[in-house]
Amino acid sequence: MVAIRVSLPVPLRRGFDYEYERPLAPGVRVRVPWGRRVLTGFVIEVPADPVPGVARRAILEVIDDEPLLSAAQLQLLYFAADYYHHPLGEVLFAALPAGLKRGRGVAAPQVYVLTPEGQAAADTRFARAKRQAALWQAIKAAGVMTEAALKALGPGFGPAMRALLAQGLVERRDPERESPRALSPSAVTLRPDQQAACKAVAEAYGRFAAFLVFGVTGSGKTEVYLELLAQVLAAGGQALVLVPEIGLTPQIVARLSARLGTFIGVLHSGCTATERARVWSAAAAGHIRVVVGTRSAVFVPLKHPALIIVDEEHDASFKQQEGFRYHARDLAVWRAKQLGIPIVLGSATPSLESYRHACQGRYRLLTLPDRGPHSALPAVRLIDLGREPLRAGLSVSLIEALRGCLSRGEQALLFLNRRGYAPVLFCPECRWHAPCDRCDARLTVHLGRQRLRCHHCGREQPVPQACPQCGHLRLLHVGEGTERIEEALRRILPGARIARVDRDTTASRLSFETLLQKVHGREIDVLIGTQMLAKGHDFPHVTLVGVIAADQGLHGSDFRADEQLFAQIVQVAGRAGRAAKPGEVLIQTYHPAHPLWEPLTRLDYGAFAEMALKDRRDTLFPPYAYCALLRAEARDPESATRFLEAARELAKGPPDVALGCVLPAVLARRAGYHRAQLLATSLNRAALQGWLKVWLPRLAKTPLASRVRWSLDVDPYSLF
Ligand code: ADP
Ligand code: ZN
Ligand code: ZN
Repeated sequence: MVAIRVSLPVPLRRGFDYEYERPLAPGVRVRVPWGRRVLTGFVIEVPADPVPGVARRAILEVIDDEPLLSAAQLQLLYFAADYYHHPLGEVLFAALPAGLKRGRGVAAPQVYVLTPEGQAAADTRFARAKRQAALWQAIKAAGVMTEAALKALGPGFGPAMRALLAQGLVERRDPERESPRALSPSAVTLRPDQQAACKAVAEAYGRFAAFLVFGVTGSGKTEVYLELLAQVLAAGGQALVLVPEIGLTPQIVARLSARLGTFIGVLHSGCTATERARVWSAAAAGHIRVVVGTRSAVFVPLKHPALIIVDEEHDASFKQQEGFRYHARDLAVWRAKQLGIPIVLGSATPSLESYRHACQGRYRLLTLPDRGPHSALPAVRLIDLGREPLRAGLSVSLIEALRGCLSRGEQALLFLNRRGYAPVLFCPECRWHAPCDRCDARLTVHLGRQRLRCHHCGREQPVPQACPQCGHLRLLHVGEGTERIEEALRRILPGARIARVDRDTTASRLSFETLLQKVHGREIDVLIGTQMLAKGHDFPHVTLVGVIAADQGLHGSDFRADEQLFAQIVQVAGRAGRAAKPGEVLIQTYHPAHPLWEPLTRLDYGAFAEMALKDRRDTLFPPYAYCALLRAEARDPESATRFLEAARELAKGPPDVALGCVLPAVLARRAGYHRAQLLATSLNRAALQGWLKVWLPRLAKTPLASRVRWSLDVDPYSLF
């Protein structure tokens, strides 16, 4: 009998030893007894040092003949577990699609092609069957589509596909016997800057190199990706394309399918467990050549990996915010290095981390300065709210601009950034903002407890009844809601066709798509919305964008607030004037003199980055310093804080690592839990990692560790 070390999906930071008649390869799944349950686990190794003196239980069943996870993939997951200090068993299982966790086998994905009758069908045939029409068109454009890609087009797949199959217009095939359709030639001729970007990446095939494609929205980044993907496919390779959650639209899937004419595996949060497992297995077998997916797709196995692309690389959704808190972009870079292949990061507003790498020459910067001859960038103008009274959140200038826009028969978009968990207290009379007297920072309103708090030093005070500077009695929490704006607009612009887009109004993807179609069909004049609107959608007739409450971003108490505000405004500005019409962006602010506006009104990312990087250097935040945030929460008010204080004691005097104070979280109470946090910072990543390795096991042994819920967030995206 041989000892086999197995990793199990349990929150313990170690593997468990079992017995089997022969050695098993790492990456093979097994079923083992765990207490009185049976769990599926992964073989990690045949340990040279089995835990002595314990009776090992026997492995009940070996599921795989061949390891499900390749050596390279195991290595990636080991690295991730190590770097994010998360239990390996949970990492392995977080990376795996649910369908494989339960230990079932997986079939290849179903693909659909048109029959000759389907090819010949006229689109009038589907006049009264919208879903069927959509599926038929998608397959027609792409030649072949996987089930997951078709389902990504919207709900109602099942009945519509059954109808198409019954009419003999579509047939289902096994992709392993399907040879991919030839690549379609590009519909556009790449501009010289796009060609140069493609050439630079192409020279790096077969070795690791990181590229940052920096170009405003509409500058043609996606065309560059398409060209690179076509090259990779032509050479028989596979590619992984990571996109933000909000960026995985039917449009992008259709665009990829139309150009690449190959099996595209689509992975997103809406996929069923079976679909995920199928894409996963088909990619591992090399049948699916391009995988497009959100965050967790970074773990997809590839048989012939040749290229990784991360679109909108700055997007927050690449960072998992709970459980196994990995950053998909960062792991993608690690993976590209491990595999020896190039990686392309793309953005109009790169993360400061990536931009700094590019400035230092660690990533190669590929700039697409142009937006093509037919669409200039919009003009950006500030509206000084100190001089203009607001009417239900809207200034006179904005209302006038809206009227003008509507009278010309054009469309307007009003954008409200709602990342407003941290409202600030503000006097509309004298423009006083509740400041912290010990820091250069503003206090945040904590509504629940009616207190003002500084998130930098922890100082707290009651909410004043009147403005301490001028005595004005109606102090405001800066922050507006989409609903209120909509209501007001209906009064101000009677007759205008107004629609609101946010998570409440467009819970389903279909209603969102329907709304977008209405905008395209010019059935809507004014669209009010949140971040959902900011990405990936072209609105050719929108010529006016109003940013209603941008100041929230100026005073956010988080270190990434400015970066996010800049990115959001560049994104929404990108919505305006994409066709031949010039666009205008109006930003309402009480602080026209804030330094952020200068680069923003010029949409000058370089100038912004220079300013923001200096700020990060002065305040010791990424990319100049490396952070790890220890969060704790408990039902009673004190335990979380006491646990963190104890953690701080344990860590006394670590070399090279600075510990902050134990502070309540911005949302100090959530779902009945009192929450607090402790930030560790170091100028040296290795020093921070080394110290965490010593600190965490000691921490886990403190008495309170089992009584509070706690977690470590390495490279936290934000301090919320
Ligand atoms: P991004 O991904 O940077 O937002 P896209 O690649 O989507 O930009 O390009 C925006 C629009 O411009 C698309 O409709 C695209 O087809 C078009 N386009 C991009 N590059 C070219 C080109 N070289 N010639 C003509 N049209 C182009
Ligand atoms: Zn005042
Ligand atoms: Zn302070």
